[in-house]
Amino acid sequence: MKKLPPSIFNDVIGPVMRGSSSSHVAGASRIATLVRQSLGNDVARVLVEFDVNGSLAETHKGHGTDMGFVSGIMGIDMTDPAMLDAERLARGAGIDVEFRVLDYGAEHPNHFRIEAAGKNGNSRRWEALSVGGGMIEMIKFDGFDVRIEGDFYEFLITLITSNTPDAPNTADELIDAVKKICPQPDFINVEHLPDKTLMALKFASKPDSSVLKALLALSGVSDVVCLEPILPTHSSASCAVPFRTPEQLEALAKTEPRPMWEFAAQYEAARGNTTQDDVFEKMRAILDITERAIAEGLRGTEYRDRILGPQAFKIDESAKQGKLVPCETLNTTIKFITALMEVKSAMGVIVAAPTAGACGCLPGTILGVGKTLGLSQDECVKGILAAGIVGVFIAELATFAAEVAGCQVECGAGSGMAAAGITQMMGGSVEQCLDAASIALQNITGLACDPVANRVEVPCLGKNIMGGANALASANMALAGYDKVIPLEQTIIAMYDIGVSLPKELRCTFGGLGKTKASLEIRERLEKGL
Ligand code: SF4
Repeated sequence: MKKLPPSIFNDVIGPVMRGSSSSHVAGASRIATLVRQSLGNDVARVLVEFDVNGSLAETHKGHGTDMGFVSGIMGIDMTDPAMLDAERLARGAGIDVEFRVLDYGAEHPNHFRIEAAGKNGNSRRWEALSVGGGMIEMIKFDGFDVRIEGDFYEFLITLITSNTPDAPNTADELIDAVKKICPQPDFINVEHLPDKTLMALKFASKPDSSVLKALLALSGVSDVVCLEPILPTHSSASCAVPFRTPEQLEALAKTEPRPMWEFAAQYEAARGNTTQDDVFEKMRAILDITERAIAEGLRGTEYRDRILGPQAFKIDESAKQGKLVPCETLNTTIKFITALMEVKSAMGVIVAAPTAGACGCLPGTILGVGKTLGLSQDECVKGILAAGIVGVFIAELATFAAEVAGCQVECGAGSGMAAAGITQMMGGSVEQCLDAASIALQNITGLACDPVANRVEVPCLGKNIMGGANALASANMALAGYDKVIPLEQTIIAMYDIGVSLPKELRCTFGGLGKTKASLEIRERLEKGL
């Protein structure tokens, strides 16, 4: 199957969620949602295994993977406050979910090995990855290689075959029979095991229910699993985006000069088979959620299991007393980023942009600049759209998973995106937006992920704020015409290269600040509920 281009709403801005970490909470919830769907939404028992050498072995409890996974099994939406109580609700419903850590040699740091059984006696085996920013890949189903990302309607059809020429139904005959029943899929993949075959079909729109009935009636079909899309932007094989690299965008902007946000809207409309107006309004809705979260954070939040108390209000108080270096745009940005991070840590609703751990940097900076410059909401929407297209390039060329490449691909990526967004809001050209992003990303390479006490709060708050300050400086450098020297595409590739070269301990696996004496003491205190 060909690799589809990233989508702004799937891969970059979103999901809208509660919880501290998108790769832990949202990724786990989405994986579990597909596991639940594969059992006809009727789960009795699940065993989830994490590899001892992966990131999840250390972080699955503290970063909310367990909570996210059980929520997905229970069908609790990621914005529903009930997700905080999901584990108790599952026990009450008689659903048994067990998490184990063992050594099975997984290659990816966020690898899930899952055995699930339904109340009707069916069972499924899955392997899945949480690949950053809430995006997932289901990579194995009942022993077959699969590739499911949650953006299509999918049929997984198991055929019992002997694969010998004199058998009543050879694999090829059964495959032909299935093809006659099903509408033309967007993608089809066939995998063989010695005694059975899996046909994995992807559809852009939902097949009629009569198709499923006809499949189940077909001799030789032993099982059909139907999965629904779980991502906001659905995919189709025919989507053709206008550009895939910063170079292509820059070339296009030279022949058809337009602001960066218009190219972003055009790109996402083509990716999601929708209109540019629809893309704009979806982004406005994202900004509305962010503005509500900032207001909530500024009112002050409480949550038992966290390190930091409310602090966002301190900026205004201290500024009024003349205690701060006077810089209204920066100080408003610090305040907004802090408010967003505090809502996240209090399990309020935020937008992972590009991740939950880095949910403050990009939107807090865009709105901080918008507020201090008196810009309209439309101008802020344009800023975040421009930022989104830089995120698309990062998703294409690197990752948003700190477990793979450190905090530089979370707060660092947010900073590069914000730099482009601010440049757009200041009337900069496409070239200046891309230059601002490149400068910002060059400034943050090598940023470790080393959360204190296994919580996504410290140094996360400071790193989000640093990302905002870096974005402001980088935008001004680009707007003033500074030379970025290294083009954005090469910068992203270098950032990824540096990230994967970081020692594992500095990629969200209990290193750096996370293993200091102070961090261990805080962790012990929080685990005792003190
Ligand atoms: S250090 Fe950065 S990447 Fe790591 S948990 Fe904190 S915000 Fe996320």
